[in-house]
Formats: sequence, C-alpha cells, structure tokens
Amino acid sequence: MQFIDLQAQYKHLKLRIDKRIHKVLDHGQYIMGPEVFELEEKLAEYVGVKHAITCANGTDALTLCMMLLGVKPGDAVFCPTFTFFATAEVVAFAGATPVFVDSDQETFNMCPKDLEKQIKQTISEGNLNLKAIIAVDLFGLPANYPELQRVADKYGLKLIEDAAQGFGGSINNQMAGSFGDVATTSFFPAKPLGCYGDGGAIFTNNDMYADLLRSYRVHGKGSDKYDNIRIGVNSRLDTIQAAILLEKLAIFPAELEARNIVAKRYEELYKDTYITPQVPNGYTSSWAQYTLRNKNRNAAMKKFKLRGIPTMVYYAKCMHQQTAFKAYNQVDNNFLVAEKLASTVFSLPMHPYLKDIN
Ligand SMILES: *Cc1c(COP(=O)(O)O)cnc(C)c1O
Repeated sequence: MQFIDLQAQYKHLKLRIDKRIHKVLDHGQYIMGPEVFELEEKLAEYVGVKHAITCANGTDALTLCMMLLGVKPGDAVFCPTFTFFATAEVVAFAGATPVFVDSDQETFNMCPKDLEKQIKQTISEGNLNLKAIIAVDLFGLPANYPELQRVADKYGLKLIEDAAQGFGGSINNQMAGSFGDVATTSFFPAKPLGCYGDGGAIFTNNDMYADLLRSYRVHGKGSDKYDNIRIGVNSRLDTIQAAILLEKLAIFPAELEARNIVAKRYEELYKDTYITPQVPNGYTSSWAQYTLRNKNRNAAMKKFKLRGIPTMVYYAKCMHQQTAFKAYNQVDNNFLVAEKLASTVFSLPMHPYLKDIN
C-alpha cells in the first residue's frame, strides 16, 4: 500500500492528460499559454471567487500576498505554530515578524481565542505594527473563518487563507479559497489537487488585488512584460502543468467523494482505538491528510507498519520549535495544544484510489 498513489490517478486519467499535454507541445506556448487562462477561469468558478491567479508554487502564492499587502520589517503577521514551514517562512522572508498562535485541539487549526490573546500581547509590547493573519486549512479542514474574520475586523488586520491543503473543503457550502481578503493554494503533487511538478494559485474577489498580483508574478509588468512599473518576481505556472490541472480539476469533485468514503471507513475502523479527526457541523474537509492521535504514537505506527500500512507524521515540530525561527520566540511561549498535537499525531494513507481498507 502506498501513502499517496499518484500512479493510480495517472492510470485513470492517462488518455486525457496525455492528449492535453500533446496539445501544448503542438502549439508550443509553454509560458502563459491558453491553458493557464482557461485553468484560472475554471478555478475561480470552482472556488466561487472573481479571480484566480496561478503562480509557480504555494509558497510563492503566499509571498506574492506579502508583496500585495506590503508586509515589511516591523510588521506582525499572526500564523499557526502547528503548520507546514512555508506559512511562517514567507513572513520572515518579507522581513516581518511571524507571531505564532496555538491550535484548536479538535480541528488542529488556528485557535481564534489564542489569536486574540497573541494580538493583545503584541499590542501591549508595542514593538510591532499589526498587519495580517495567515490561517491554514490544516489537513484539509477549513479554519474557523467566521471567528477569525471577526477578530481580524476587530483589530484591523488583513486575513489570508492558506488553503494549500484545504482546496476542496467548505464551510456552509462556501468553498475553501474564498475566505479572508485573499487566499492561496498549492498544486504540489501530494496536495488534494496536485499537478506533476510545482504549481500554486491565489484567489480573491478584489479587482485591484488581482491586477497587482498579475503584475507581481511577471516582473511587475505594466501594459506588457517589457513595461515594468514595479518590482516583482518570476512566478508563473507552466502551461503543461495548467493542462494537467485542467483534466484533474474536471474529476476533482468525484475524487473528493472518494476521499470522504475513505475517511468514513477509517472513522468506523479506528474510532474506538484512536482519537479520530472530527469535522464540525457545516464544514467539509478535502482530507489532505487523515490524521489520528495517540499518546503512544511510535507503538501505534509500528502496529500499522506490521499490517503493511504506511504512516507519516505531519508535523513533529511546531514553528516555534524550529531552529530557523529561534529569533522570533515569543515571551509567552505556551503553545500547549500545538505541542501536544505535534507529539501525538500521525497520518494514514489517503488518496481517492485507496481500495480494500480493513
Ligand atoms: C504545501 C504547503 C505550502 C507550500 O506549497 P508549495 O507548493 O510546496 O510551495 C504552504 N502552506 C501549507 C499549509 C502547505 O501545506
């Protein structure tokens, strides 16, 4: 059994994907070809936003958002401590200060109460300018956006949704990628919607944001790419990757259903032995990971291994425990829930082509 079986998906889609790739080889527009714009339209429609702007990867998608919001040294950007490194990395890369926030024990996502506590603490210290929040849809479950947006509005912070894992999830039928001021996703092969290389996208309803992001991703272009009106980066999605994603997006709703069937089966099998992930009322998860909790994680993982079932730990180290973030350690460094999660979570194989789960 494989943890994520990308070959099974390719087998299923081979004829369609090969045909799409060959079409790109025939027209030869490898950079910003028609498939890129077709994909952006379809992504925006799926997520239910006005604009989807593709880019080179999910980390760049976040970095482009830092550029868009003018995040700079002296700014505080609040992000969960229990997440993938990139979420906080882009903040430090912009010269700003990541301020870590503890997690909610049930959802693994940013705890709105601790967020407010960290904001108040930052205000009382008086060294940083309150700038933005990056919330993460960890393991596929959207963060608590109704509450997070309330806190963001109360303190005048911008809200960014990092939906790298959440693409396909929803809250009361509102899709992940549509929350906050701007949202990002990743098409890294192992994500719920992955391509065959690196890829990413940004979503927004704000026309001005969309124009700026389209400029930033191509060297700050103005009316054309040799008219440069601001400093930008080179962060485009390859046309071939867009072609692959068009075919994958077409079957994505069916894949989501299959992922939910796997999750249901796991729940039946493991609810009595482990702490299984719970999806709050009104929420759906894209099940980027199916993550169990157990105090004796190593022993539990060994049991699965003996049955031929691979497991992985996402994530054993919180951001505040990372060497790279040593300089950003907060005074009140009590991330009890996140640390407990980091020492007890492990994930089971999850993909839409899993069969014979027992
Ligand atoms: C994967 C991931 C990213 C980064 O995406 P890349 O495409 O690998 O750059 C950012 N945030 C989270 C939460 C992720 O899981």
